[in-house]
Amino acid sequence: MGYKLVSRKEKPDNTVVKVGNVIVGGDCLTVIAGPCAVEDREQYIQVAGYLKKLGVQMLRGGAFKPRTSPYAFQGLAKEGLDILAEAGRVTGLPIVTEVMDTRDVEAVAGYADVIQIGSRNMQNFILLKEAGRTGKPVMLKRGLSATIEEWLMAAEYIMAEGNSDIIMCERGIRTFETHTRNTLDISAIPAVKHLSHLPVIVDPSHAAGRWGMVAPLAKASVAAGADGLLIEVHPCPNEALCDGGQSLTPGNFAQLLGELVPVAEAVGRKCKCEAKHLVKKSII
Ligand code: PEP
Ligand code: MN
Repeated sequence: MGYKLVSRKEKPDNTVVKVGNVIVGGDCLTVIAGPCAVEDREQYIQVAGYLKKLGVQMLRGGAFKPRTSPYAFQGLAKEGLDILAEAGRVTGLPIVTEVMDTRDVEAVAGYADVIQIGSRNMQNFILLKEAGRTGKPVMLKRGLSATIEEWLMAAEYIMAEGNSDIIMCERGIRTFETHTRNTLDISAIPAVKHLSHLPVIVDPSHAAGRWGMVAPLAKASVAAGADGLLIEVHPCPNEALCDGGQSLTPGNFAQLLGELVPVAEAVGRKCKCEAKHLVKKSII
């Protein structure tokens, strides 16, 4: 048996996921940004304030990091969640953060406005069920080598728990190409939107793995119909403890937001970050 509940056959109308005042899957593009990991309280609160001024709708940051090497920075765990909560209070913006372990689902759900299921856990079915049961919106990243069908089946696990607040996130897949960290599958955007009623956002940062390619991939994603973007922004990418090479500086990110406006408009989407690139001049 294939996926059912997430299918557009089951529900022809688009699902709109509401996270506080933020709407994912509506007329407006939803931009989520922040550093890969929460590294330091002051640094996070500062960058969060800046992103808020730019018109970003949600903040991201990992407290639990899935690292390829066990010796790499693994995240601040509970301390990171506290910092995220403070940033949420200070800015009034919802927080997106990853949960990796079923034992942490309750704690993460207590802090996060959106629970992120990372690529490496897309087929961790127990985790999907637990995340679904929290009733919190879930952002489901596509597995490193997952087909679109497998990805939709993973979403079905969440929805089968009675939770239809699911945001699909394309973040690149593993192919023979090694120039980029992953290959951004632009075709997944129209494919998932055709097959399912769920909103689809794109993370060009983890796809590219190189900051210089983030802006063109972000624009291509919006042009192809993405409902939003997830972008890594770090105040000082050279010093980032995680994913510095793909992180935009706040200045480069502000410039990208400005460039996204006409692209969004060309495909009939509003961008709340409109004209916010002007803010750049007064802040940086
Ligand atoms: C992340 O968003 O920081 C992350 C680890 O992403 P992914 O699961 O797509 O690799
Ligand atoms: Mn990252």
